[in-house]
Amino acid sequence: APVIGVFALQGDVREHLRALRECGATATAVRRPSELDSVDALVIPGGESTTMSNLSIEFGLLEPIRKRIAGGMPTYGSCAGMIMLAGRVLDGRPDQQSFGGIDMTVRRNAFGRQVDSFEGPVTLSPFEEPFHAVFIRAPWVESVGEGVEVLGRAAGRIVAVRQGSLLATAFHPELTGDLRVHRHFVEMVRAGLNVTEG
Ligand code: GLN
Repeated sequence: APVIGVFALQGDVREHLRALRECGATATAVRRPSELDSVDALVIPGGESTTMSNLSIEFGLLEPIRKRIAGGMPTYGSCAGMIMLAGRVLDGRPDQQSFGGIDMTVRRNAFGRQVDSFEGPVTLSPFEEPFHAVFIRAPWVESVGEGVEVLGRAAGRIVAVRQGSLLATAFHPELTGDLRVHRHFVEMVRAGLNVTEG
């Protein structure tokens, strides 16, 4: 089984570990560079992207994660994790850093200006049935580059994207027990490993 790390300096780490294990992956917390070296893929949880930015600098993970992502490591980010995967962040703190990887601009707390948190069905292109999506002070995707596939929208805004081996959602599938997004990611990881193993 592929070994999938969960960025564990901040955020809803346990929920992602549980969802990944329920999908049959080996899942492990990543807090230091040596732990990053031992994983095939990474999940960046929901939480607070400004804190993730600060702690990843403090723990020496910012550059190593940037390098792994740029080198093709499959990575999935939910909510704050989506912000960390964005090439460009709007309404961030002045010194806020992201890992980057997805050619998109996200706006932090974007829905929050109207309503802080909400939930509802979202149509996602990989799945037949709508996904019950939970949004908590969620970002939206303001614009995407040509290589980015839009997987779903809510309230007319882009809330799920894929670019190559990178996946991001503005909502939190780890909180609702619906494993389809995690399963989709584990399949992306398996497909990538098969390619490199020939
Ligand atoms: N508002 C948070 C941020 O900007 C994200 C919220 C979440 O992950 N639920 O990082």
